[in-house]
Amino acid sequence: MTAIDISTESTNTTITVEALTQFCDDYLSANAFKDYVPNGLQVDGGRPIQRIVTGVTACEALIDAAIADNADAIMVHHGYFWKGEPATITGMKGRRIRKLMQHGISMIGYHLPLDAHPVVGNNAMLAEMLDLTITGPLYPTESHPVGNIATCVPQSVDDLIAKITQALGRTPLHIAAEYHENSSSKTSNRLIERIGICTGGAQDMIEQAALMGCDAFISGEISERTTHIARELGIDYFACGHHATERGGIQALGKIVSQEFGVPVTFIDIDNPA
Ligand SMILES: [Zn+2]
Repeated sequence: MTAIDISTESTNTTITVEALTQFCDDYLSANAFKDYVPNGLQVDGGRPIQRIVTGVTACEALIDAAIADNADAIMVHHGYFWKGEPATITGMKGRRIRKLMQHGISMIGYHLPLDAHPVVGNNAMLAEMLDLTITGPLYPTESHPVGNIATCVPQSVDDLIAKITQALGRTPLHIAAEYHENSSSKTSNRLIERIGICTGGAQDMIEQAALMGCDAFISGEISERTTHIARELGIDYFACGHHATERGGIQALGKIVSQEFGVPVTFIDIDNPA
């Protein structure tokens, strides 16, 4: 677990949970997205906010860290109440929510709006870390598309792997574009300059990236099928880790919140190799 203080100096400023949520909703245009999880305030802790903890996922370890930090609110990318999950507040979900309520901690989550935001979004932050320039959406016809197309200085697969490893602190799983017998020399000479990018569990967007003429696609997770899709559509795939690719957005949003309201915000990274 790593804690990074990303706030302005500590003050006694107090804000309401409504003001905090309204600001973030507006900033991220949260209501414009069709999502499979509610965005914004998910658990109301019932008290004003003086300290905020941010993290990727509202897991129990993050809640414990927030309690230890005396935080009044947790802001995350992965909250609760996903479409299709049991509606009851029992078991693991029950324990998490009970802990939040007992300690008066509010939980605020932003999913797709935080992936897509052009400034603080996960995709924007990952592109910045990898020296990629976002040039447009991966799905140009959608009104609030998630996923981007980016360009970079033409570089070899090995150079891109080194860049990702350095930026994220872990080596990506790479699937080479071609499977033909004589492909190894072709693949090693291949230069990558047009890249599809979408953080998290967006591996199936690789087909759209191929359709859009990308040399490579970067996301977090990989499925068994992704290997065959990459090989057969001739597009290099880099699985960089769901958690690893989604640490940027919530940290950037925390900075904006801290600047706006002058409350201390601490990002707490709960290790996750997936
Ligand atoms: Zn995610």
